[in-house]
Amino acid sequence: MDPLTFKIEPGSTIDLREYDPRYNPGIEREQAETGLAQLALEIDELQELLFGAARHSLLVIMQGMDTSGKDGTVRKVFSQISPLGSYVHGFGVPTPEELSHDFLWRVHKVAPAKGKIGIFNRSHYEDVLVVRVHNLVPPEVWGERYAMINNFEHLLAANNTIILKFFLHISKEEQEERLLKREEETEKAWKLSSGDWRERTYWDEYMAAYEDVLTKCSTSHAPWHLVPADRKWYRNYAVAHVVADTLRGYRDQWMEKLRVMGAEAKADLAAFRQEKGG
Ligand code: ADP
Repeated sequence: MDPLTFKIEPGSTIDLREYDPRYNPGIEREQAETGLAQLALEIDELQELLFGAARHSLLVIMQGMDTSGKDGTVRKVFSQISPLGSYVHGFGVPTPEELSHDFLWRVHKVAPAKGKIGIFNRSHYEDVLVVRVHNLVPPEVWGERYAMINNFEHLLAANNTIILKFFLHISKEEQEERLLKREEETEKAWKLSSGDWRERTYWDEYMAAYEDVLTKCSTSHAPWHLVPADRKWYRNYAVAHVVADTLRGYRDQWMEKLRVMGAEAKADLAAFRQEKGG
């Protein structure tokens, strides 16, 4: 099967106009919905192995413009996993305390420990996105951050963190439709914010900032996946595919570790019984 997302090769220069937010290699909606249900179950099984083996952690980073579906994707793709072994952390406007530290301080603290899945709804990438678009720090400061981010992610990866980064790519037209829909639907109106319309006026600046992120920060140990996201069912299926495919690659080594741990636990129990009986 053709890949559903575009994995950004390190060293490639990204022009977002070359990526269609409605790209689809021929997947029908029904097939995507059935597939997503199966993949969500598989991700649950793999999460249990990840948790038990406690050798790796998984860090999932979700980025995208307002309404691109960061929350919705997380809800669908991770719908089956245990809250015991996973968490979602949202990154908002930094607090005064956070601002008085380096920009990665608040991020490193919530990076997932071994055995855990940590999902970031927005992330340290905001420090080269919103911060750049609104000149919150001078260009010399944000300009240095790409290399700092790559080094930070390298550190996490070297400590057995599996890193997956998703950019949910929607069109400006689709965003307008989604924002207007929020106004119409009572149960979605709470999400309305004039800030979303204001940020929209900086669309081109955001696209340029995202192009730099994708160009400079896709590495072999922490690749970016560009997800065509104008269709929600396609987006969910595509992200679930990448997550399941990635974790599946570790299945055998986690199973092996669990087998060894199981054998040790049994031997320990047998020794205890013998001692008690003797
Ligand atoms: P979301 O829009 O992700 O559902 P919020 O409504 O809480 O959640 O929005 C979070 C806001 O925080 C966004 O507007 C985002 O740009 C902003 N933000 C996140 N990180 C930073 C940062 N480092 N500096 C400034 N603003 C940030």
